[in-house]
Amino acid sequence: MNVIHLSVECYPVAKVGGLADVVGALPKYQNKLGINASVVIPWYDKPYIRDHAFDRVVSGTFNQGSATLSYEVWKQVESTLGFDLFLIKIPGFLDRSEVYGYADEGEQFIAFQHAFLDWLTISAIVPDIVHCHDYHVGLIPFLMQWGDRFHTLRTVKTVATVHNGQYQGWMNWSKGILLPAFDTWKWGLLDWDGLINPLAAAIKCSTAFTTVSEGYLKELLVEANGLQTLFASESFKGVGIVNGIDTEVWDSEKDVAIQFPFNIRNVTKGKEKNKETFCEQYKLDSRRPLLVFIGRFAYEKGADLLSEIIINLFEVKDEKISIFILGSGDSEIRDSLAPLSAKYPGYFSAYFGYDESLAHWVYASADLLLMPSRVEPCGLNQLYSLRYGTLPVVRAIGGLKDTVIDIQDPEGYGVRFAEASVESAVEGIQRAVLFSSNSAAFEKNKKRMMSLDFSWDSSAKTYIDLYNQINP
Ligand code: ADP
Repeated sequence: MNVIHLSVECYPVAKVGGLADVVGALPKYQNKLGINASVVIPWYDKPYIRDHAFDRVVSGTFNQGSATLSYEVWKQVESTLGFDLFLIKIPGFLDRSEVYGYADEGEQFIAFQHAFLDWLTISAIVPDIVHCHDYHVGLIPFLMQWGDRFHTLRTVKTVATVHNGQYQGWMNWSKGILLPAFDTWKWGLLDWDGLINPLAAAIKCSTAFTTVSEGYLKELLVEANGLQTLFASESFKGVGIVNGIDTEVWDSEKDVAIQFPFNIRNVTKGKEKNKETFCEQYKLDSRRPLLVFIGRFAYEKGADLLSEIIINLFEVKDEKISIFILGSGDSEIRDSLAPLSAKYPGYFSAYFGYDESLAHWVYASADLLLMPSRVEPCGLNQLYSLRYGTLPVVRAIGGLKDTVIDIQDPEGYGVRFAEASVESAVEGIQRAVLFSSNSAAFEKNKKRMMSLDFSWDSSAKTYIDLYNQINP
């Protein structure tokens, strides 16, 4: 079975968040199960692409509005990632340093999708499944069926995975002329509330859609940033499949980003040593429990609550803990956190920016990881945290609810709190800190967390079962 994963992120080539982790791992684990899964992403101006060899496979042109765009498809010479990686290069348009954030982002994603379909068409490539990840490539299922020029792809089955339903790629209908020519009688399939909505089009036109946890699928039927009625009416073809983690990349014994690698047997000593050097570097007291947050500074992550949570913990509750934050994004959130290092020396420290290696070291060094998310389709941080023996303290929502069981339950290993609010998060943190003071139970729990299996093995198989179901 030939499956093409189409995405704008893929670890380790281009990562902004969890989407990259999934697209960089799922195909690898699917290939281990005997199918042929490959990945197609844009050619960016990124170190990974500069540092690796690629062969040109094909080139072509297409019209986007009044412009004629040229594209090239390149394939990585050595498939070291566990799958064939293809890059679509559109000079001056896609070959930029960042994945997101450009004023012509909508045009960029249309061009990427058009080039992909043109490539398959002129090369007579007919995969069994095209698997589209998030709205950036959400027009593909529609265009494969109703595009004027892509007849060879009309019967190919499509899967659309919703990693995050908050972002939908809304475009004014004036942008409609930029799309490849399509059967205009079908325009309604692109539309939601008077706008072109690529995520809605993907849900309507894909053979099946998936969400990255079962809990998130249920939540989308009730609240999906305007698409809840669509998710409800199409739910007959929706499946929730929880993300796994790449246990080769996230292996505390072999992780080169960790100063003192450790395994389940020596986790106590290993984490302690990492914590000591980490706290020394970031000027924190390592004798206290170390609580961390890693992630995007975004409202959906509850990152706007962080500064108040910290102030409340130190000034109202008088908690004696160390707190470290690794994050980037909204500048207001950053500005709310920046002064706290000076205000609470030895207690609070932060690194503002994106640093993959540092993230690994933080997971390895911390005692507790906080996720006060308002929305969390799956969440990977809590899974990395469990794998590295760090107790997750999470708001019970979406994938967090599906993957973290509270210590109040005999089967539990993490802490869940009910609301994305300062009070609720502080209550959860205090329970976790109290639990950490019972060192026998806390140390035993580290081994328990590390023994949990959140690898891709079973979820990769569930996806393959879905492919077989829709393409018998
Ligand atoms: P989302 O995709 O919504 O941002 P996920 O929990 O699914 O959230 O995935 C986040 C991923 O990004 C994890 O691999 C996490 O470690 C990583 N990450 C987030 N922010 C940073 C950062 N500032 N530096 C390093 N890694 C980060």
